[in-house]
Amino acid sequence: MTRTMELDAVIIGSGAGGGTVAERLAPLAEAGARIAVLEEGHHFPLAYFTQREVEMMGLFRYGGGWPIKDGSITLAAGRGLGGSTLVYTGVTFRLPDAVCEKWGVPGLTPKDLAPRFERLEKDLSVIVPGDDMVNDNNRLFAEACETLGWEVKKIPLNLSGCEQEGFCNLGCATGAKQGAMAVQLPRAQKAGVVLVPNCRVEKIGRGKVSAKVSEPPPGTVPGPWEPGEVEISAKRIVCAAGSPATPGLLLAAGLEKELPALGRYFTLHPAMTLYGVMPHPIKNYQGFPKTYYTPRFSQTHHFYLETAFYYPFVSTKHLGLWGEDLARIMTRYANFMTVIALNHDPASEKNRIRLSRKGEVIMDYTIAKESVESLAHAQVAATRLFIAAGCREMVMPMAKKPVFTPADAGDKSLEEFISPKRFLPIKTPLSSAHPQGGCRMGAGPEDSVTDPWGKVHGREDLYVADASLFPQSSAVNPYLTVMALADRVGQKLVESADSWG
Ligand SMILES: Cc1cc2nc3c(=O)[nH]c(=O)nc-3n(C[C@H](O)[C@H](O)[C@H](O)COP(=O)(O)OP(=O)(O)OC[C@H]3O[C@@H](n4cnc5c(N)ncnc54)[C@H](O)[C@@H]3O)c2cc1C
Repeated sequence: MTRTMELDAVIIGSGAGGGTVAERLAPLAEAGARIAVLEEGHHFPLAYFTQREVEMMGLFRYGGGWPIKDGSITLAAGRGLGGSTLVYTGVTFRLPDAVCEKWGVPGLTPKDLAPRFERLEKDLSVIVPGDDMVNDNNRLFAEACETLGWEVKKIPLNLSGCEQEGFCNLGCATGAKQGAMAVQLPRAQKAGVVLVPNCRVEKIGRGKVSAKVSEPPPGTVPGPWEPGEVEISAKRIVCAAGSPATPGLLLAAGLEKELPALGRYFTLHPAMTLYGVMPHPIKNYQGFPKTYYTPRFSQTHHFYLETAFYYPFVSTKHLGLWGEDLARIMTRYANFMTVIALNHDPASEKNRIRLSRKGEVIMDYTIAKESVESLAHAQVAATRLFIAAGCREMVMPMAKKPVFTPADAGDKSLEEFISPKRFLPIKTPLSSAHPQGGCRMGAGPEDSVTDPWGKVHGREDLYVADASLFPQSSAVNPYLTVMALADRVGQKLVESADSWG
């Protein structure tokens, strides 16, 4: 039997956006408002995080390989209380002022965002990592950038008491990584906000949410609601299910007619993980996996190069090799230097979230020619970096010979040797962990879905507070911007609480 329930506010999703809104609404909960966070994923206790790659696949939607429509890019998205902040690395960048201005959202200014960033950074214990946290991969990266004359910077990270176990993307076993589950959700819960794991929202309507609660799997913490169907009446609904799930929920609610921009301008920072092979084993599995990046190519070629560390199974996917080449290179896994190139992809109306006939979310995205060119250039840059660091072999999927030595490449002809012409959709490994857009903020319903405060145009009951609000890509790792935008949404909700009815 379907249960019914009346609440003041429902927040769908508990990640960077949902967690931040929940904390912002804490004073209302303390004053007696009935507020719940509904999360499809499970409540994972620290003991769950064994740091074994295959065992941790349940932290991700589709085991970390959620494919876009044509299968050419796979998306990693967290699924659990804490959302993607459970599995993120904690790289903390503010939205660059120039990107904020380019977004052109009325009232969304660097001046508005600065104090929010400052407060969030304090709450999330953001630090610039000390040299004691720099492992071999990161040290080699920084030294090679210096040799090449490239600007190299430390990455700000959100950590408290990090033991440098190194497997941050498989969930933090010591709880040192700061995110929604470590910071915002416990504060909200303390104030009376109810956290409901294993609760998938199936549909939203006007002031209504239909959800299904399932049994908690072994090893996870049970939630407060019994399994079964639930119909909730709520004065305010905040969609924070992330992109592409939030645009999917709004499409399923039939809002496309009134809001032609719904689902559109989807971006995802297409990424390539690139490998160089050192002549000897290096330590990348311990220490913090990401402490350096170079912004050298951000303005000119629209990508960031950051250090990275990935596990054996996912590395085999990133390498894009087969058969003997793959087997031989993987025997050198302990010698791998690893970097990730993140492209700032252009926002196109044609790249959109749609629903299949069965109502499943489809990411209909075609990588832009500029993005392919940018990623080809990133491979040229990574090759130079690996050679400067002393690597004997490189693996570059767009190279004439995907596994090659410095002699094969010959410095002068690198741009010819690694070419966008060799990009083959599906065969060239591309991934993403930064889905954005689909419910872009803006001035009016002609070309945006919400107002600058996340309120869906033409609706009083419905808000969006997650990465789907981004009008274009953030160009930097996005979580802090998601939280700052969700903070604005929470502020608006609190300010308007008297009119909820
Ligand atoms: C492996 C990985 C590493 C990353 N590293 C970084 C980093 O270092 N720095 C950085 O800035 N960003 C990083 N990111 C990206 C960052 O985590 C996201 O940009 C951010 O968390 C997005 O916030 P969100 O609120 O939009 O969505 P999420 O944080 O993804 O939260 C959405 C939540 O909604 C839930 N949900 C979805 N549908 C439903 C439904 N129907 N009913 C109920 N619940 C639902 C999901 O299960 C999920 O828990 C990383 C992401 C990944 C996957």
